[in-house]
Amino acid sequence: MTNPKKNKPLSVLFTSSEADPFIKVGGLADVSGSLPKAMLELTNGNKNNRELDIRLVIPYHSGVRADAQTVTKVIDYFVPYGDRFYPTTIYETRIGALPVYLISSDWIRSSDRVYDLEVMQTARKYLFFSKAVSMLPEALDWPVQILHANDWHTALTIPLLQQKYAYPIKTLLTIHNLPFMGSETRGMLDRIGLEPIHYPKLPDWGGEIPLPIGSALANQVVAVSPTYAKEIMTPEFGYGLENFYSSIQSRVSGILNGLDLDLWNPQTDPYIQANYSSTDLSKREENKRLLQQQFALTKYPDSPLIVMISRFDNQKGIDLALQALRNLDHTPWQAIFLGNGSPTLEKAASDLAIAYPDRFHFENRFDNPLSHRLYAGGDIMLIPSRYEPCGLTQMIGMHYGIIPVARATGGLKDTISPFINNPLTATGFLFDKIDSDELTKVLQRALVVFPQKDLWTRLQLNAMNRDFSWKKSAAQYMTLYQNLEASAL
Ligand code: ADP
Repeated sequence: MTNPKKNKPLSVLFTSSEADPFIKVGGLADVSGSLPKAMLELTNGNKNNRELDIRLVIPYHSGVRADAQTVTKVIDYFVPYGDRFYPTTIYETRIGALPVYLISSDWIRSSDRVYDLEVMQTARKYLFFSKAVSMLPEALDWPVQILHANDWHTALTIPLLQQKYAYPIKTLLTIHNLPFMGSETRGMLDRIGLEPIHYPKLPDWGGEIPLPIGSALANQVVAVSPTYAKEIMTPEFGYGLENFYSSIQSRVSGILNGLDLDLWNPQTDPYIQANYSSTDLSKREENKRLLQQQFALTKYPDSPLIVMISRFDNQKGIDLALQALRNLDHTPWQAIFLGNGSPTLEKAASDLAIAYPDRFHFENRFDNPLSHRLYAGGDIMLIPSRYEPCGLTQMIGMHYGIIPVARATGGLKDTISPFINNPLTATGFLFDKIDSDELTKVLQRALVVFPQKDLWTRLQLNAMNRDFSWKKSAAQYMTLYQNLEASAL
């Protein structure tokens, strides 16, 4: 393949395991479905910016929702894996103007979940996918200049592409969730023609698994918030890689995620009953009433409606939230939790629903339309995460006029202005320690402020008037891309 021409648009391959609107497990899907699109919008047609030819590639999971009319087959090719070559197909569709490739093969379609519970399935799926992505530029005769990988699932595309082409491809890895490093692939690198690596300050175990390998070899590493970029260099959040990340800090940065405001807009949101903006907040009341009716929340109807929308994972502090509500037994509150995941946490939430049937409701599933209605009708959102690299729920919540009660970590700390610092500019309430008593105290403070309508409305307006769009962050990524393009390897 020929060396890319300088005067052509900068070609970027953005790769991820999930992307909204095709398939979504968590925030990674929101980001993959919106950041490349935002970058296209930022640069194209804007004379001051380098033009971009950015394209997204994800696995064609069997659960992908893509209108058959809009999906076209591009090419068949063979991908080596272990000692065989497997027939593989690249399909193409779009999100707006953004080209999206879907890679299909038996290894990818045979497990119906994005992240299979059977870890070997997941390991095989993403090793194979990474190999297939590394061959995509050649298959399409598209000279990629920058590869942008995300999390462990696609981190191995970095060494694969670096070793493959005669011209240098620059690489960037965004870390959305460090503890998930892909250790399920240990001992399997040779199936895709890779070997463990040795790198200064990288523990030996790290040289054998995808996320640390990708971090060591990428030209740029981005954590999804400035605070998380610092946190991964500490023993508490570094998971044994803190010294390694400190040693490469000159090429580590933190860039906050943004929201796709076409999808998350209370004025036009098709899933909510009463659309509203910051100038007619009273309409939120109707959304709240409908939720109260639907979920038979009859006790304390005038109290604040607390919501939680989350994967049920130890990371998210669901246990702390449930305990805090129990601690506030004698205080009026109502709550709806939406989510699924850990059976232990699901059981704990179900137990609370049994204990407080007329004021606590647990909806045990993933339900995108319901999540929109909760953002539009809830008053307080609990986000007591043990760690939170960026977090989208607090940003969506604030954009919709919900006030977050959250732990001061990662992106939560970077995006929420705490009440304690200045009630007049605050957008939420923060607490420090991973401790249900601390959460109880700060939630109680929020419950006390809630009836002070002027003050509460002020918090809502502060939150809704914040800019959570991709504008600033997409420009920061663009600067990184351009620096990479300009740099000699
Ligand atoms: P994470 O990526 O760690 O799961 P984020 O806060 O970054 O957390 O993003 C979570 C995304 O997933 C948000 O868009 C949120 O609305 C959505 N979400 C989480 N749980 C559910 C659920 N049970 N039903 C619908 N949407 C959910």
